[in-house]
Amino acid sequence: MANASHHSNVKSICVFCGSSPGRNPVYLAAARRAGELIGQRGFRMVYGGGASGMMGEAARAALAAGAGVIGVRPAPLDHLELPQGGIEMIQTPDLFERKQRMVAMSDVFLILPGGLGTLDEFFEVATTAQLGMHEKIIILVNTDGYFEPLLALFQRCKGEGFVYGDLTRLFYTVETPDAAFALL
Ligand code: AMP
Repeated sequence: MANASHHSNVKSICVFCGSSPGRNPVYLAAARRAGELIGQRGFRMVYGGGASGMMGEAARAALAAGAGVIGVRPAPLDHLELPQGGIEMIQTPDLFERKQRMVAMSDVFLILPGGLGTLDEFFEVATTAQLGMHEKIIILVNTDGYFEPLLALFQRCKGEGFVYGDLTRLFYTVETPDAAFALL
């Protein structure tokens, strides 16, 4: 198996979460725990490559727990979002390709609380799953009930006849990072 090192079986978990820490310390704690579990369970972490907020917290915890961490980001973002040091960085020309690369190289998507960027990334993987373009695992980590209004909106979308099929089959919803890893 001369090429074994080029064909790593390590699964990649893509983490989408806030570039902000959030007001409540439970969010940073969840990000930290998610990173820790990625390392402890022998996964690789893929994420946006930033040092700030929940994103940076998750990446540093994953690194500390021994995970390989890959950041994917367009260079022009550097003045807006400080890049995380000590990780492998992949440069993309723009945000669109960033999202595509992150999706292509990942096996599992873990979505923690965040803002518009996080929601955009969640919708990207959920809508492409709905269209049958991939069958990757999507897990929404509903930390402290953060996503309840979104889940209620999905119920309404379904109730009003705007969603075909079973939304609950598109993604899992769990309350904690530990519960997410119990699914894997
Ligand atoms: P936020 O949840 O808004 O704090 O953003 C989380 C991450 O999503 C940040 O690293 C943003 O740069 C990133 N992001 C925001 N919008 C997009 C987009 N359209 N495509 C790819 N990444 C994005």
